[in-house]
Amino acid sequence: MMKLHRTPFQTILHNMFTVLEEVDGRFAFPTIAAVAKMKPDLVKMIVDEGHEVASHGYNHVRYPTLTSQERERDLRLSLQVFKKLGIDVNGFRAPYDNYTDDMPELIEQTGLIWDGGFGYRAEHREKTHFFHADISEQKSRVTYIPLNIQSDDRLIDTMGLNPQEVTKTLNTEVSNAAKTNGVIMFDLHPIRMGQPEYVGCLRDVTQHALGLGAWCTTPTEAVKYWEAHRRWKGDSKFCLLLTGDIDNWVFSDYLRRILWRRRIG
Ligand SMILES: [Zn+2]
Repeated sequence: MMKLHRTPFQTILHNMFTVLEEVDGRFAFPTIAAVAKMKPDLVKMIVDEGHEVASHGYNHVRYPTLTSQERERDLRLSLQVFKKLGIDVNGFRAPYDNYTDDMPELIEQTGLIWDGGFGYRAEHREKTHFFHADISEQKSRVTYIPLNIQSDDRLIDTMGLNPQEVTKTLNTEVSNAAKTNGVIMFDLHPIRMGQPEYVGCLRDVTQHALGLGAWCTTPTEAVKYWEAHRRWKGDSKFCLLLTGDIDNWVFSDYLRRILWRRRIG
């Protein structure tokens, strides 16, 4: 982790914007609000470049370890921070994709339109289309997006794949998604995927998806369009959503989080 943080975050984002621009791809960044507050200019830059910022909570904590009041406070506080920064936030992904069963009820009350982490649960992960959560026997207003199991931490840290292998693995998932006419979403953290050696994967995967007829847009655009038309824009065959969480800007933030976690642990 320390080595990764030697690349300044501004460079990481710049690397990503450059390759995505080549293929006209959009990216969504679920961002920890306490982190966003420290560098509002970087967060505003994301929006100015045509990408999306979502909430990743206020603190990077596991929501199931909080009380329901604390969960509500954390989520609402995060939304207040982005509002204060003048950033339009429509989506949410809980830290570590870690949800309690009743969180759809909380999310339903926030005015958010999509969630991109609840769909990482084993029972939703393999879904090929947006879905709605069950809230006291009714379908949620909020749209839930299945989250693919292939993430950068799994592919790079756990499996030790090189950039070519990462691209190959993601492309296989994209090819399968193309056959479903549905949606595929990846969580590819900027801290790894924005590094010079891996950033090209984002371009290559987007290019592969475009070749198969994908619409590569932001979750907000995709959700709004799908809910209104029940098909993809411009008769695209399927939808690729590239996302990646921002948990911290520099190594000291990462350290602070570990220390803080120890203190409460
Ligand atoms: Zn995170």
